[in-house]
Amino acid sequence: MASYDKTEIADLIDGSMPWPSTRAIMSAHKDDDRFDKYLSILQERVPWHHPILLPIGEHLYIVQSGENRIVKCDCGHEFGSYQDNWKNQALIRVRGDRESIAEIYPGRYTCDPEWMELREFICPGCVTLLEVEAAPPGFPIVFDFLPDLEGFYEDWLGKSLPQEA
Ligand SMILES: [Zn+2]
Repeated sequence: MASYDKTEIADLIDGSMPWPSTRAIMSAHKDDDRFDKYLSILQERVPWHHPILLPIGEHLYIVQSGENRIVKCDCGHEFGSYQDNWKNQALIRVRGDRESIAEIYPGRYTCDPEWMELREFICPGCVTLLEVEAAPPGFPIVFDFLPDLEGFYEDWLGKSLPQEA
């Protein structure tokens, strides 16, 4: 089995790999410490000390904060429990007309605003665009990802969830 050193993993992170594809390159072997290295690199890059449990986006992490597990932006903004949809706490810009959709999807790639709007979710702390979703107008905000944290750590990584030091 290939082993990855910290530099290689940092390269993967710098390729802005989203969590699902990052997960795909990591094996399920319990003695493999790639995930630990991956987390430690992410942890070194953020200005705060809450332990990162799981990255869920390019700028978003589930972290341990005291007794709570919350979603946190790399700027430090906290979105509340990971079991609630962080998007509900974000600033939201809706692109619901042809012109504003065309700024993102110009020409023939555009979508019909009768059928689809683009919703941009923006961090209230650093104004970074965190996520874009396309949904039919009136469709509820999509909850992308509710991970089974205990299951992931215990069954997949073979250890218990880290606690705040
Ligand atoms: Zn932020």
